[in-house]
Amino acid sequence: MEKSHGLVFSTAEIREKGGLTLKKALDPEFFADVLEGPAKVANANVDLVFSVGGDSLLLEGAVEAGLHLECARCGEPFTGKFTEPFDELYEDAVESIDVSGTLRDSVALMMPLKPLCSPQCKGLCQACGGNLNLKVCGCVTGQEAEFSEAKKEGPFKDLKRRPRL
Ligand SMILES: [Zn+2]
Ligand SMILES: [Zn+2]
Repeated sequence: MEKSHGLVFSTAEIREKGGLTLKKALDPEFFADVLEGPAKVANANVDLVFSVGGDSLLLEGAVEAGLHLECARCGEPFTGKFTEPFDELYEDAVESIDVSGTLRDSVALMMPLKPLCSPQCKGLCQACGGNLNLKVCGCVTGQEAEFSEAKKEGPFKDLKRRPRL
């Protein structure tokens, strides 16, 4: 990273002031290569609180960001909002503190393994590939077919099929 984005702080200055609290909007460009695949940062803010300890500085804060993601179930793009808290301890001996690495790591961490446009997302029809959030296609999919077969077999077969809890 060439540009500092105003994310480098002087240890002496923080110590003189007896601490430092600030809120900052971050350029989404700053996170351009942090996320994998189609994911992108839409907007981001950070809260930073430096407190002065005996011979160290404690940084506590959180990154809040909107991420452009693709739903893992239906494949539709959506924007989700995420917050990732962090804390770091710096030795007083360091002259300056660059928080960019911490912020980039935090944004990488907030990326969900399985992004969903909504917890209720119905996904795609296994038979026709249609988006089930938009319309009910009426296809009988594998799961439903199995279910109706189980019903035909009668109540005692159902008992054996009951999944283990
Ligand atoms: Zn979805
Ligand atoms: Zn279908």
